[in-house]
Amino acid sequence: MSSLHRLISTSLTQSIQTSKRRKRILPSTYVLSPSSFKFSTLTTAPQSLPGERLRVAVVGGGCAGLSSALHLAPLVEKGLLASPIDIYTHDNHLTAHQRDIGVGVWSTALDPFRLEQDRPSHQLAYKSLIQAGTWVTNVGYRTPDGSWLMKSHLPSNHLEADQRNMPALLFLREKDLWNSLSTAVHWEQQRGMIQIHTQQKVTQLWEQSTRPFSTHLMIEKQGNKGLSLPTEREYHVIIAADGTHSLLRQQYGGHDVERRVRLTGTGALPMPLDIPAEGQHASAADWNEMQRQTGIGLQDRHYTVYRGNSVLTRNEMGLDDTSFQTWGTGNSMRFATVPMVYPVGNRKEERQVWFITCNDPEIAQETNPSKRQDLLLEKFQGWHDPIRRIVEATGPNEILADRAIAHRYATSPVLNFNHVVEKMRGIRPPNSGSGPFIIFVGDAFMTIDPILAQGFTVGMEGAYIMKKAIEKACVKCERDSSLNYDPYLLEKVLRERDESRMKRLVCLLRATELVQFLGQPSGTLGQFQTKILRPVVQMIPNLIKSPIFDRVLKYSLGITPFRTKGE
Ligand SMILES: Cc1cc2nc3c(=O)[nH]c(=O)nc-3n(C[C@H](O)[C@H](O)[C@H](O)COP(=O)(O)OP(=O)(O)OC[C@H]3O[C@@H](n4cnc5c(N)ncnc54)[C@H](O)[C@@H]3O)c2cc1C
Repeated sequence: MSSLHRLISTSLTQSIQTSKRRKRILPSTYVLSPSSFKFSTLTTAPQSLPGERLRVAVVGGGCAGLSSALHLAPLVEKGLLASPIDIYTHDNHLTAHQRDIGVGVWSTALDPFRLEQDRPSHQLAYKSLIQAGTWVTNVGYRTPDGSWLMKSHLPSNHLEADQRNMPALLFLREKDLWNSLSTAVHWEQQRGMIQIHTQQKVTQLWEQSTRPFSTHLMIEKQGNKGLSLPTEREYHVIIAADGTHSLLRQQYGGHDVERRVRLTGTGALPMPLDIPAEGQHASAADWNEMQRQTGIGLQDRHYTVYRGNSVLTRNEMGLDDTSFQTWGTGNSMRFATVPMVYPVGNRKEERQVWFITCNDPEIAQETNPSKRQDLLLEKFQGWHDPIRRIVEATGPNEILADRAIAHRYATSPVLNFNHVVEKMRGIRPPNSGSGPFIIFVGDAFMTIDPILAQGFTVGMEGAYIMKKAIEKACVKCERDSSLNYDPYLLEKVLRERDESRMKRLVCLLRATELVQFLGQPSGTLGQFQTKILRPVVQMIPNLIKSPIFDRVLKYSLGITPFRTKGE
């Protein structure tokens, strides 16, 4: 037992007395949690150690968390960050993230690994990703009668992607995506750059730190849900990559309205929150806990996603390799399929990855897999070939069903943790600084509509941009020469990063709205879209439509004339 942990039990009585004196009602687990305990040894600790280097923890071992740690690892080797970067994940690594379902990742998320040519782990990750997947080249949109609204051609490898300044799309099994990153993380772990702590649930941060810019994470004690214990190490930066239901987002996100929760600025998000205009001071009255909950909360997107890998080959179907999305009218009815080839030993296997979205409570509530498959087939009766054949050739038990949920708002980083704690608990942490920084990455930053199929891409890109921001702040602090990083500069660069991530999201949501408007007739404009817009779109020659599609696609990935790939 470490001295730190021993201290917790000895100061139990004193801590409970302290917490009883608190002005506000604390969450039920909080009273039991050691986060309310005072560590007597630490009260005498210096505010910062000589030559203190930035120490980073990553919470979450999904693709966003692993990518974050991998991008930061070279900074540890350069001596800019303290070693190692700790990843705390709730997962059991033998079983988690091991689904066969095919997923798409854009090259904007893969390029940062590819271009880090001096880093063996990054090359390892990139090469194994490429080997495991298939570049999607021919794509198109169709209507339920099978006619094509448009077709386009995506780059078939990264060289073509560079030449055309056009992103490429890799399709691979979810488990191969995760395993590729995980192998690279283990490479770094063997060299002491990263340390991974599995089956560790982070419940909150220790809120009584005496250090100005760092604190411990609190880890739930196994077998005792009410009790959390602090980590041995303290961290200046906590990367919250703990997914859609992020506990760190729920607790610390969205407290300061001007910075923490932002509208994405598009009609894709109905009923905007009553947030004061940019630059206006948000008083406590303007921004209450109920609004914060809405700001950080999830919304039901009113459809279910059914996914599978069909064993039919393109040859058997008599089709070329064109991936297509077919858009119905209303009820979020949509079908998409992409051919995916992946290695199994010395062989190659081919699957047609498909997904269906629809809003039909009867299908969503059906628990018998075979009956649910029958209902899906019935729903898509009359849609063009080979939709039904693809679904029929998928084992009913292998069809995944996910209710579509998404965050309504992105969460900006926590730049003044002490202020947030003071707001929540009524007591400021006992130190003179602003506390550690919390940066949200991946689904914890914002879970986007699954229909956009860019969650991995946005998360992995976000991890790289976060690394670039941190790297900028790894310089001797002018205001405190004992610090080998500059917390004031870090705050500034994190704000800039946040702005750039918001712009990226706005691009994605706006592009999706446009495509959705053109492709999926619904509501009052439905008749106009079906009777006039669709036929007009069909009549326009592909030569004209295809470059427009490419523009919209690039825009959806945040690549605009003012922002280029990888920015
Ligand atoms: C139906 C559907 C289809 C999709 N298709 C695509 C697609 O084709 N392409 C695409 O790019 N995206 C797709 N997405 C989105 C994609 O799955 C997510 O965006 C992605 O998984 C998010 O990765 P992440 O690392 O942020 O979170 P996760 O993968 O959820 O990982 C979170 C990690 O945090 C850990 N964790 C959670 N809480 C704690 C805690 N308290 N303490 C410690 N660890 C914790 C978990 O154990 C896990 O390891 C799809 C999503 C859905 C629902």
